[in-house]
Amino acid sequence: MNWIDTHTHIYLPEFEQDRNEVIERAKEVGVEHLLLPNVDLSTVDDLLALCDQNPQTCFPMIGLHPCSVKEDFREVLEKLKVIIETERTRIIAIGEIGVDLYWDASTLKIQEEAFRQQIEWALTYELPIAVHIRNAFEDTLRIVQDYDDRGLRGVFHCFTGNAEQAKWLQSRGYYLGIGGVATFKNGGVREILHLLDQSLVILETDAPYLAPTPFRGKRNEPMHIPRIAETLAEAWNAPLNQVAEITSNNAKRLFNHA
Ligand SMILES: [Zn+2]
Repeated sequence: MNWIDTHTHIYLPEFEQDRNEVIERAKEVGVEHLLLPNVDLSTVDDLLALCDQNPQTCFPMIGLHPCSVKEDFREVLEKLKVIIETERTRIIAIGEIGVDLYWDASTLKIQEEAFRQQIEWALTYELPIAVHIRNAFEDTLRIVQDYDDRGLRGVFHCFTGNAEQAKWLQSRGYYLGIGGVATFKNGGVREILHLLDQSLVILETDAPYLAPTPFRGKRNEPMHIPRIAETLAEAWNAPLNQVAEITSNNAKRLFNHA
């Protein structure tokens, strides 16, 4: 079985001590591709270096995370744009970008401006977007709706919305990233998995965050992708290898990375 972790941050300092072992452990369970969303300017070098060292395994996204959108975001975006243009041939998505009103709702205005600018990049470079939203579903829908007729594609990573929201997104062609939260009891996601359009579902860990049950609270890592997939297999009443095939094909179609 071949799996793809479509959202993992193993370039972060949490993996400084054992990054190579983490990649090896992932490969041992069949997780062959690791797609790396960026956070901000401070993480770009480590992210790209990891992709240099593992060109068959690690694939870069570039973007500014909504929680990192501060007053100086216009300058930051200028610098990120230069990096995207330089690295254009290997970048697989603009991410992670979006709106997060959980930590600081007062920055909605600048978050929205940064989000829209990065959506424009995605359209210009014909790349998908990897979207992070938290406590911001209505605002995000209002924004992405404006691009309905311009061919914007992407994934809503770590989807934790309800059935209606899932339907809204999938009916517009957006993929949903399913991660560790789907394994939580009362997480709200497991209950709607059977309703999803399977052709628009991909798997992710969001490592080092959001480890699935029974590792909840511990450092997450890409080797847990099959554990997350078990929950999907149960909900879809499908064998695990079928879940691998469906979700890996979906990821390759969206990111066109391999
Ligand atoms: Zn993330």
